[in-house]
Amino acid sequence: MRSAQAGVIGLGSVGAFALFELARRGVEVVGLEAFGVGNDQSAVGGDSRLFRRLYREGPAYHGLLERALELWRETDARLPGAFVQCGALSIVPQGSLYAFDLEAYGERFGVDYELLDADEVAERFPQFAHPGGDVGYWDPAGGYVRTDLVVRDAVDRALEHGATVIDLPALAIEPGPDGVVVRTAEGDWRFDRVVVAAGARTPLLLPGFGRIAAPQLQVMTWFQATDPERFRAATMPVFIREGAGFHAYGAPALDGLHVKVSGLTERRPAVFDGLAYDQSVTPDDLRDAEARIPLVLDDLHPLPVRTAIYPELYSHDGRFVIDFVDPEQRVLAATAFSGKGFKMANAIGEHVARVLVGEAVTNPDFGLARFADAPTPTPTDPEREAHADQAA
Ligand SMILES: Cc1cc2nc3c(=O)[nH]c(=O)nc-3n(C[C@H](O)[C@H](O)[C@H](O)COP(=O)(O)OP(=O)(O)OC[C@H]3O[C@@H](n4cnc5c(N)ncnc54)[C@H](O)[C@@H]3O)c2cc1C
Repeated sequence: MRSAQAGVIGLGSVGAFALFELARRGVEVVGLEAFGVGNDQSAVGGDSRLFRRLYREGPAYHGLLERALELWRETDARLPGAFVQCGALSIVPQGSLYAFDLEAYGERFGVDYELLDADEVAERFPQFAHPGGDVGYWDPAGGYVRTDLVVRDAVDRALEHGATVIDLPALAIEPGPDGVVVRTAEGDWRFDRVVVAAGARTPLLLPGFGRIAAPQLQVMTWFQATDPERFRAATMPVFIREGAGFHAYGAPALDGLHVKVSGLTERRPAVFDGLAYDQSVTPDDLRDAEARIPLVLDDLHPLPVRTAIYPELYSHDGRFVIDFVDPEQRVLAATAFSGKGFKMANAIGEHVARVLVGEAVTNPDFGLARFADAPTPTPTDPEREAHADQAA
């Protein structure tokens, strides 16, 4: 049986960075990836992800977010265009809990932001449908990350530091007293420790996760701009539109023409056949997208010209899970990023590596113990709970 100090299962958003950070620390590490690095059947797909610094999702994320910002800036210095700080605009109902949380976060952590009334939003950002009575929070440090570019880069850098990458799925993970056996169709591996970063497919490898998290699918849509100049990163921020009866978010046109918007359709459960899922976008999805896009952005052709559908694992309380799953602390799950993990993927990968080499300990905010007494979590605050995983 082949062996190494560490294994990383899944080289998607977080696994790619965990691989790099482990290799950089001199750990003999092997990564297994089922669909190829930067693949389009994972939460890496869809070209870009939003980065926001004014973060209503709460203080638990502050350290990771700030570190992620430093690391994305470093990446962009090497790979121009990998992280574009075009700003982030959150349009939310005035006086809502969402607005309260944004302000509380900004004040607590001294994050720069600007509160714009509806007319100021319309004047500064005429691409957006007039927000009516809603308000805008302008977060100048926000922007987007080019997903497949940075994931490929992290894996390439890991290879330079001596990591091994195997294009095969892990079939089973079996922790034992002498290490962790990972089974593949081409033989088994034994590792001292393993990171499981298999995204939506994590419950297939760690069945206990079925109790605390659910894999779901989210449709992404791209619309053609009638006046492309207004939809480029030089003129348009990434955005969240909350309060129009749905939670939409998106990014400027990376190719200069097609504007990406997610959240116009309802999420649905991901059902896996082996590791595959149904990638079809339905006529209902298209109808929802067409009906809702005018409530978000002006001057777009209303039927999407491109669609895609991506899987993600959502924990029942919407918070990350980064914790050991076994008493011997050999198998670390880094998963259930619940619709908001990419912006911090680099910092999560670093945290995971630091935990594995003993430089850091796991953060109880992301621990499994929180589920111990609440197999079926019940929301104490219905509004906050309803939005806990509607992030981006
Ligand atoms: C539509 C959509 C929009 C989003 N928008 C944002 C956003 O704007 N901002 C933001 O911060 N976050 C956003 N997110 C969330 C973010 O993309 C995810 O939280 C993050 O990418 C999840 O990373 P991951 O490493 O857990 O999973 P993934 O990136 O999916 O990686 C898992 C990897 O594991 C591999 N794998 C699975 N099973 C196996 C196996 N058995 N063996 C080997 N390999 C395996 C997969 O092929 C994949 O490469 C969005 C998510 C979706 C779906």
